[in-house]
Amino acid sequence: AGEPLDLSGATPMMVQYMEIKAAYPDCLLFYRMGDFYELFFRDAEQAAEALDITLTKRGKHLGEDIPMCGVPVHSAEMYLARLIRKSFKVAVCEQVEDPAEAKKRGSKSVVKRDVVRLVTPGTITEDGLLDARRANYIVALGRAQNALSLAVADMSTGEFFLAPTKAGRLDADLARLSPGELLIAPDLMKDETIATALFDWRSITSPLDARHFDSTDGTARLKALFDVATLDGFASFDRADLAAAGALLYYLEDTQKGQLPHLFPPRRLNAGETMMIDAATRRSLELTRTQTGEADGSLLSVIDRTVTGAGARLLMKRLSAPLTNPDAVASRLDAVEHLIERPSLRHSMRAALRAAPDMERALARLSLGRGGPRDLLGIREGLEAAHAIRQELLTVSEAIERLPDEMTEAMRDLGSHHELTAELGRAIVAEPPLLARDGGFIAAGYDAKLDEFRTLRDESRRLIAGLEGDYQTLTGISGLKIRHNNVLGFHVDVTAKHADKLMTAPLSDTFIHRQTLANAVRFSTTELAKLAGRISEAADRALALETEIFESLTKAVLSLSDPIALAADALARLDVAAALAELAEAENWCRPTVDDSLAFHIEAGRHPVVERALKKSRETTFVANDCDLNPDDRLWLITGPNMAGKSTFLRQNALIAILAQMGSYVPAARAHVGIVDRLFSRVGASDDLAHGRSTFMVEMVETAAILNQAGPKSLVILDEIGRGTATYDGLSIAWAAVENLHNINQSRALFATHYHELTALKETLESLSLWSMKVREWKGDVVFLHEVAKGAADRSYGIQVAKLAGLPPRVIARARQVLSHLETTDKGDKARGLVTDLPLFQSIPERGTSAGPHGAPSEMEAKLKEINPDLLTPREALDLLYALKDLS
Ligand code: ADP
Repeated sequence: AGEPLDLSGATPMMVQYMEIKAAYPDCLLFYRMGDFYELFFRDAEQAAEALDITLTKRGKHLGEDIPMCGVPVHSAEMYLARLIRKSFKVAVCEQVEDPAEAKKRGSKSVVKRDVVRLVTPGTITEDGLLDARRANYIVALGRAQNALSLAVADMSTGEFFLAPTKAGRLDADLARLSPGELLIAPDLMKDETIATALFDWRSITSPLDARHFDSTDGTARLKALFDVATLDGFASFDRADLAAAGALLYYLEDTQKGQLPHLFPPRRLNAGETMMIDAATRRSLELTRTQTGEADGSLLSVIDRTVTGAGARLLMKRLSAPLTNPDAVASRLDAVEHLIERPSLRHSMRAALRAAPDMERALARLSLGRGGPRDLLGIREGLEAAHAIRQELLTVSEAIERLPDEMTEAMRDLGSHHELTAELGRAIVAEPPLLARDGGFIAAGYDAKLDEFRTLRDESRRLIAGLEGDYQTLTGISGLKIRHNNVLGFHVDVTAKHADKLMTAPLSDTFIHRQTLANAVRFSTTELAKLAGRISEAADRALALETEIFESLTKAVLSLSDPIALAADALARLDVAAALAELAEAENWCRPTVDDSLAFHIEAGRHPVVERALKKSRETTFVANDCDLNPDDRLWLITGPNMAGKSTFLRQNALIAILAQMGSYVPAARAHVGIVDRLFSRVGASDDLAHGRSTFMVEMVETAAILNQAGPKSLVILDEIGRGTATYDGLSIAWAAVENLHNINQSRALFATHYHELTALKETLESLSLWSMKVREWKGDVVFLHEVAKGAADRSYGIQVAKLAGLPPRVIARARQVLSHLETTDKGDKARGLVTDLPLFQSIPERGTSAGPHGAPSEMEAKLKEINPDLLTPREALDLLYALKDLS
């Protein structure tokens, strides 16, 4: 938008530019000119700033300079990557005819150009633009008859599914997927819950006209794409699913200019299939990124032992979406256990997997016409790895025993693709170039015609080499050379002092003068020209033939795209199972029992990330702790000083629940986890500046979500609720929250607090128990034992912790004095009183009013009402102020 469309006085090329640009107002237009993509006007200004490249100008439009910048075509991918990361979209406009054709139409004629592709964050497939170890989802949100659904695809792998959702869980569903691009119809934003859930995703949102979200259109597109008469074979979709799918497919087709990527037939997820974890909980548990956004230091970074990109992506997906079906969890765990028990099978599988390239992504590029020779090689090597692993599993299953179901299924999906691998093996050289247009990737001996052209080419080269000697003899100039450059092609090169000889008869009959330089003179000969012509003709024909062979091999691969993609997925599954086995063995983790009970019983649990950090620093070892929540004792109230390890304990239990339900072993000696349907965590406080909310506000919003949504099958961890406000406010809120959790939500919960007063709740809440972090005092210092023990903490040790932190000794000494004074004057046990009649709550005056006993206006209010400030002189105002002060 905002581009000048006044074409008066513009050059024909600018007219063409502006016409094309008008069709893509929200994209940067990469306009191909020779070896560069050029950008003009506002696009140029934005791109120059985003890419930190020079802004120049070219010509004038309406009397003003036209800003311009450009990027070389050969390094365009790098610039695209940077623009995509900054949330730009790019329309790539190519020359779609040979410039010679345009010249034929007349000297002023402009080469035909067209946009061949829109590059958007959700539709990229190039390795250089993608993170190999993360999925890149594009998601469309559809709504129909008040149902909401997310259509989700990863274009780089062909994954495609529909996930029904609700306004209230949209945030959690999006956080689980963490899409690269989100398509929505702008009118959905009128719904406030939806708008709030989408707020965090605004930088990746692409608005799409509401008419593209149409269920009838969606049905038609799905049927056409998968070439079926009915969709019943896939799943039973509702209208929201179909509307979302329709918009997604429309957008893919639009951005790829008709080339649809390979997509698997869509699956429909069931709403309760995975553990619900909202965005705030994910952030605070640092599942795939730390709070500061880095991958390093997240749970994922500590558990990831996969050896392939596809395996890493799958592991991340599983970590983001733990299952809620115990059987499905057990079946994943069976595979892990099998591979723990058979280290040699595991090691050889991992060795084979390491050699397997990323078939999913190679296949996606080939299906979009963006593939190269290396993608064909990748498919071959991937299928070979699949074959090797399949053989191994076959031998094991025949010779020894039944494999776990997961592995039997993977073995079946690996398939056998002998013919294709053999064909590709014969066709492609060991180290092919990146681009098909460079040629030289088809192996010798694969195609007789191609070999012939190559022989011709090589022979001519040899003849030229021979010609040099002939010419030296003929002319008697031993320094005569045959050289090649881009301007003259093959030519004869002699030093200036010999040139005259060649320019006089009889030699001038053979040598035609072409160029004189400071110390070299260059000639051509008919014979040389003839040989050069033969070389270039042979090379052209060889390249054309190679291109043809490339196309037909690509076709052969794509005709098997479904089974190849299945094999790739099976490799990823096996990689994950073997990686989790490797991890469990190396870190001494145990297999959890996962069932439908309400148990949460962990013996000697550990926090994998903290443990790893301690191991690295070698200062102390991690202290394992038990946790046992059950219907009779489902709420643990944990007290203890700062730094004693409360948050670590809380987090580790949440992580164990996630790990168990994703089908991994867990960092504990024993673990029994009754399925957790929703996980809530409110740990630590951080300002949410993007939303303009204070720490306290964020804390309350998150606490509200928990108290409104958690149920008996949920697991809740709450840390230091109420810390962000005044003591009494905070204590009251924490108090009420514990009561609510215990009586209303009835969730399994760990509640850490610094309010010792809360321990009095033990007397009224029967399924609550008191725990504390053990500390020992030693010569006035405090030593943290990091042990969770029964009972409430006796003191808060705040001063000792402050001393550890390096507060000056005089301040510590003074604080001790103040504390002992406070402790001797504070006779009453306030907390006891709270339990019986809650005097504390009643004693807090409501702020902002000073109403009389029965709600009648006070004298002061009556007086205030009478005042009309506009009629007062400054003197009268001051007198009034004194009068009011007397009333208070
Ligand atoms: P709190 O929440 O009580 O303030 P943290 O959980 O943040 O305390 O723990 C503070 C530090 O203590 C951690 O950074 C870690 O280094 C150490 N720590 C916590 N738990 C343990 C443990 N179980 N074993 C060993 N060290 C621990």
